[in-house]
Amino acid sequence: MQVIKHGGQFNIRLVNDSEHRGLHDNFAARSPYDVIIRAIGFHFDDSIFDKSIIPKLGEGEKKKYPAIKPNYESVNVESLFFAGTNTHSLDFRKSAGGFIHGFRYTTRALHRLLECRNHKHPWPSTTLRTTQVMNTLLKRTNEASGLYQMYNVLGDVIIVNDTDAVYLEEVPVQLLPQLETATGHLAPNKVIVMAMEFGKNFSDFAGGVMAGAFPKGLPKCQSTDKNIFWPPFSKRKRRGGRGGGRDGRRGGGGRGGGWGPSFTFYF
Ligand SMILES: Cc1cc2nc3c(=O)[nH]c(=O)nc-3n(C[C@H](O)[C@H](O)[C@H](O)COP(=O)(O)OP(=O)(O)OC[C@H]3O[C@@H](n4cnc5c(N)ncnc54)[C@H](O)[C@@H]3O)c2cc1C
Repeated sequence: MQVIKHGGQFNIRLVNDSEHRGLHDNFAARSPYDVIIRAIGFHFDDSIFDKSIIPKLGEGEKKKYPAIKPNYESVNVESLFFAGTNTHSLDFRKSAGGFIHGFRYTTRALHRLLECRNHKHPWPSTTLRTTQVMNTLLKRTNEASGLYQMYNVLGDVIIVNDTDAVYLEEVPVQLLPQLETATGHLAPNKVIVMAMEFGKNFSDFAGGVMAGAFPKGLPKCQSTDKNIFWPPFSKRKRRGGRGGGRDGRRGGGGRGGGWGPSFTFYF
């Protein structure tokens, strides 16, 4: 593509335009433009920070984002949290956290994490009889916008007790190892996690920009031939000891523990 200035305006000339003339009338290239705005990305501007708290940035393709832990906290500056497109290092080319339609849910998750961390307010929850769980899952499957937009990132967590179940909506799944400290809810037995993911035959699976989005090492599942969104449920059992630091690091606190999937079930 070439931009040619002519009479104070800019004309777009497409390479091989003459070959295609008549085949495709390209409206975007037909009329001249008054102004062209170059919008080809951004660099992180850290001038707002004192030099003692300059946040580390990500690496490689993520170098324009601050490096953060799954609880949205800077990896090198304690109690410095990020919201908005700045948090996209956690789900770069995996989910929608770089865009308003995605980070409106992760920002709410950050608020809930900070409510728990700073004010001891547990993650909002509903207590259900175990007989109500299936209905609730079905309703959430059909209506939950945060799970739908932040696929693979946010998941509903159901803490299964003997006679009831505690339902937590849209928890960052990377925080499952620290579920109890992050949410303020005890989970002594089992949890079920429902999150959305693309099926293996989704058109981008083979190597498009979303190719890295597909979870590796998930347990074998019942059926994998869908090419659209679908909700997997993973039943999880506690692995190793309890624990995990409140900082959202994987295995934080060095005590191991957390929740590993014992099986994944799709419908
Ligand atoms: C062309 C285009 C189309 C898009 N379409 C969509 C869409 O359809 N749907 C969607 O969900 N997303 C869309 N996005 C993405 C979305 O707009 C951005 O992800 C979103 O605006 C980022 O919001 P933010 O609050 O994280 O950052 P920003 O909107 O960039 O806000 C950061 C603010 O901080 C201010 N600031 C920076 N440095 C300082 C400082 N030192 N002191 C004080 N203030 C400072 C800036 O001036 C700015 O106002 C689109 C983006 C573009 C460019």
